[in-house]
Amino acid sequence: MPHDISTDILIAGQWRRGAGEPVETVDPATGEVLATVHSASADEVDEAARAAALAVADPAWRDLLPHQRARLLYRVAELTEGAAGELAALQTADTGKTLTETKALALSAAGTFRYMAAALETAEETLTPSRGPYVTMSVYEPIGVVGAINPWNSPVASDAQKIAPALAGGNAVLLKPAAWTPLVSLALGRLIHQALGELGLPTALLSVLPGSGRVVGDAIVHHPLVTRIGFTGGTETGRSIAAVAASKLIPASLELGGKSPTIVRADADVEQALAGVMFGIFSSSGQSCIAGSRLFVAREMYDSFVGELVARVSKLRVGPGTDPDTQVGPLVHHRHRDSVAAYVDLARSEGARVLCGGRAPEGDAYQGGAYYLPTVLDGLPNTSRTCQEEIFGPVLVALPYDDEDDLVRQANDSVYGLACGIWTRDHRAAWRLARRIEAGTVWINTYKQFSASTPFSGVKDSGLGTEKGRDAIRAYQRQKSLYWGTSDAPLPWAN
Ligand code: NAD
Repeated sequence: MPHDISTDILIAGQWRRGAGEPVETVDPATGEVLATVHSASADEVDEAARAAALAVADPAWRDLLPHQRARLLYRVAELTEGAAGELAALQTADTGKTLTETKALALSAAGTFRYMAAALETAEETLTPSRGPYVTMSVYEPIGVVGAINPWNSPVASDAQKIAPALAGGNAVLLKPAAWTPLVSLALGRLIHQALGELGLPTALLSVLPGSGRVVGDAIVHHPLVTRIGFTGGTETGRSIAAVAASKLIPASLELGGKSPTIVRADADVEQALAGVMFGIFSSSGQSCIAGSRLFVAREMYDSFVGELVARVSKLRVGPGTDPDTQVGPLVHHRHRDSVAAYVDLARSEGARVLCGGRAPEGDAYQGGAYYLPTVLDGLPNTSRTCQEEIFGPVLVALPYDDEDDLVRQANDSVYGLACGIWTRDHRAAWRLARRIEAGTVWINTYKQFSASTPFSGVKDSGLGTEKGRDAIRAYQRQKSLYWGTSDAPLPWAN
C-alpha cells in the first residue's frame, strides 16, 4: 500500500474535496479499495476555467519571457524526479503496472518537463523572408486555457506530455485524468502546485479535475474559455471531442487507439524478434495504444516461430506489479479484464485457435485480482473482428503472410495507423516496409522505444496532431505575423 494517498482534488489553485460523484479507485492486484475520490462537478470545472483564464492573463505569468517560464518546468522536472519512487508506487497501486514500468514512466515525465524547458529556452521567434520595405516576423502567443484529457493506461507520462508543452506555451491547464486512475495525476498536480507557489506564479495555472467523461470531460470540452484540447483515449471518444472542437473552431490534438502490426521477416534475428514481439504486446499487459497486437510472420517460418513464441509466452511470470519478478501485471480494472475475456470468447466464436492463455490464471495468488493470462491466437483472417478491433489487453493474434505485397496489404488493412514493428536483417527491406506501412511510428528491430524529442502521432483512426518534440510547444501556441515598416518613402495614401 503506497503512503499518503490524498483524495482532495485541485480546483483553481485550491485543494479540496470535489463536489461531484464519489469514485472508488481500486488496486487491481487485490481488488482492495485504495481511496474514494470525489469527482469535480460541472460548476467546479467552470470555476477552474475562469480562474485559469485569469491566471493566463496575470502579468506575473503573461509577462514572463520564455526562458523565465522554463524555470517552472525545470523545477517541476526536479520535483518529479525526486518523487519518482512515490509516484511509481502510487501508479502501480492504481493501474497494476509493474514497478519497473511505473518508475520509468515517472522518470520519463520528469524528462519531458526538462526537455520542454530546454526547448523553450532555445525556441526563437522567427524572421520571415521580407518581400517589401518592412521586416516581417512570426511571434508565438498562448492559446489560453487548455483542456488536457487522458486515459488510464499511462497517466503520469501522458499528463506530462500535455502539461509541459502547454505551460511552456504560456497557457493554463485543466487536466482530467481517467476516473479509474486519478491518484498519480493528483500527486503530479501537487508537485506542480508546489513549484508554482515557490516561484510566485498563479496557482490556478493548473487544475486537476478527476471524474467521468460524461460530466467532467464534457464540461471541459464544451466550456467557452477552453480554447485548445489535448486528448488521448479511444477513437470514438476522440471523434466526439473533435466534433465539439470543430463547432467551437478550436484546435484539438487527438492521440487515439491502435491495432499495430509487428512483422517478422524470414531473415529476422529470431531471438531478437521473439523477445521484441513478446515485449511489444505483453508489457503493460497489452494495455498500450502502441501494443503490437497483430503479428505477421513469413509463411515459411510461421509454424516454427509461432511454436517457439507460444512456449515462451506460456512461461511469462504473471503477478502483482509490486513483485520484482513480475513481467505481466493485472489489468487496470476488473471490468476491463471482463471486456478482454469477452474478446477472447468472440475470437473463439470466430473460429480462432487459442494457442496459450485464453483465461484468467488460477491459484490463491490471483484471488481478487484483475488478472488475465498472456494469450496467443491464430487461425483467423485479418478481416475478422478479433484482428480489426482494439482489445487493449494481453492478446496477440498471429497471421502468416506470403510476400511483401500480401504483407503490406494485410498490415494496412485496418482503420488504425498508430505504430508498427519490423524484425529483419535486410536494411533495404526494412526501409521499403517502413515507408509503405501506414503508421505514425515504425520501429525497426526494436519496439516501444520512446523519446521526448521524437514526435509521436497516429494516422487514420489513430489520431490527428502530434505530441512531443520541439514543435509540441508551438502546437500549444498561436502564431502571429508582425510587419515592421523600414522605409522612409511615403505610404500610398500619404499627402
Ligand atoms: P476513453 O476514450 O474511454 O477515455 C479517455 C478519457 O476521455 C478519459 O479521461 C475519459 O473520462 C474521457 N472521456 C470519455 N468520454 C468523454 C467525453 N464525451 N468528453 C470528454 N472526455 C471524455 O479511453 P480509455 O478507455 O480511458 O483509454 C483507452 C484508449 O486510449 C485506447 O483506445 C488506447 O488506444 C487509447 N490510448 C491512445 C494513446 C495514444 O497516444 N495514441 C495512448 C494511450 C491510450
